[in-house]
Amino acid sequence: MHVCVIGAGVVGVTTAYFLAREGHCVTLVDARAQPAEVASYANGGQLSYSYVAPLAGPGVLPAVPGWLLRADSPLRFTPRLDPQQWCWALRFVQACTASASQRSTAQMLTLSYLSRDTLHALLEREPLAFGHQRNGKLIVYRTPGLLEKARALVAYQAGHGARQQVLDARQCLAREPALAALEPQLAGGIYTAGEESGDCMAFTRALFERLRALPGATVRMNTAVQRLKRLGGRIVSAQTGEGGIEADAYVVATGLGSRDLLRPLGQNLPLYGLKGYSLSVPLAQDEPGAPAISVTDYERRIVYARLGNVLRIAAMVDMGVQDSRIDPRRIALLKRQVREVFPRLDLDQALQWAGVRPATPHGKPLIGACRAADNVWINAGHGALGFTLACGSAALLADLMAGRRPAIDPAPFAP
Ligand SMILES: Cc1cc2nc3c(=O)[nH]c(=O)nc-3n(C[C@H](O)[C@H](O)[C@H](O)COP(=O)(O)OP(=O)(O)OC[C@H]3O[C@@H](n4cnc5c(N)ncnc54)[C@H](O)[C@@H]3O)c2cc1C
Repeated sequence: MHVCVIGAGVVGVTTAYFLAREGHCVTLVDARAQPAEVASYANGGQLSYSYVAPLAGPGVLPAVPGWLLRADSPLRFTPRLDPQQWCWALRFVQACTASASQRSTAQMLTLSYLSRDTLHALLEREPLAFGHQRNGKLIVYRTPGLLEKARALVAYQAGHGARQQVLDARQCLAREPALAALEPQLAGGIYTAGEESGDCMAFTRALFERLRALPGATVRMNTAVQRLKRLGGRIVSAQTGEGGIEADAYVVATGLGSRDLLRPLGQNLPLYGLKGYSLSVPLAQDEPGAPAISVTDYERRIVYARLGNVLRIAAMVDMGVQDSRIDPRRIALLKRQVREVFPRLDLDQALQWAGVRPATPHGKPLIGACRAADNVWINAGHGALGFTLACGSAALLADLMAGRRPAIDPAPFAP
């Protein structure tokens, strides 16, 4: 079968690779010159298999006034006269019940564990260089009440296969001595030894090169798909500025762009962009001021990961600004907050980046057949977890397209 995969972010490249490995003839097409130039470019680098609870949760609604009013809030909501924003926000609110959030968490764990196992199997076949580390993750809390809530989540997730430890402040510092400046405020943390990290862009580009080398794979960069041409319930061509791409099946993996591509066909995907920022700080050899393991500063929603000789710091969820311009006030706030925890880091050298997460209200990606036509499939909407979930999502979609019984229940992710 000839499959046209649209979108060369981490999700599209992974999908194209898995389909090509199965023997399909694959054309991967992207508007940009290079793969991973959009949301997959400089994200937090976390392969966060045990931290997949959706943003929508029971604690969220009381926090909304803070998001609206406080300039230093890690989550910021800018209301717009935009029906898309309000529809998404309404569905987000509906997903904020304890039962919905717990159900989504359990469903997401099935996909994240599939993703972890699929990535490990992939790396045995293709030893890709992307700064991959399996060095664990520590989430630190300043507020005892939040640590207690996290303890309850650890207990819930243990029933779904997660192996995590609750640590007191002293144990946190023993795990990660670079957190010393936080000691007076530290309530404790959750440590997960099985968590991993890596450079998403390097992963995507390395896999892209492997894909190009596979028989039957073609890549077409600098090629925007303007529309999908439907005839008799099937897509017959992906229209580009240089003519149409005719294929037996199409996979839409265009991140946030999936919304615009499918809307003219009558499928309104519940996707909205949640903007975030990252800093990439060059490190000297054995830099003692930087964490060696992945760290999340929970109250500030800041994640830290070492990617070779760079410390990647990512943060913030800004709803209502869907462009990737850098707001200097948000970067200044982020640097101030980072300095409070890791005062020895030289942030003046940091590369700054902003990206937009393609998010669904319930936090689950959309993977499966599209209603708009018989031969269109979707793999999009991975929100804050696209790198973590890419391999599992690609494996799940490949199974669905082949008519095989997938390794996990696909129903929670059906578009
Ligand atoms: C600040 C920040 C931190 C993050 N941290 C993490 C993290 O630590 N761990 C994690 O797992 N995830 C993280 N994420 C989320 C992750 O980066 C995204 O979920 C993921 O990159 C989405 O990948 P994608 O392939 O779906 O989309 P994208 O990477 O955006 O790729 C979509 C591609 O489609 C192309 N495209 C769009 N429209 C068209 C068209 N019409 N024709 C042709 N091509 C088109 C674009 O050019 C682009 O290349 C973070 C995101 C942000 C913003």
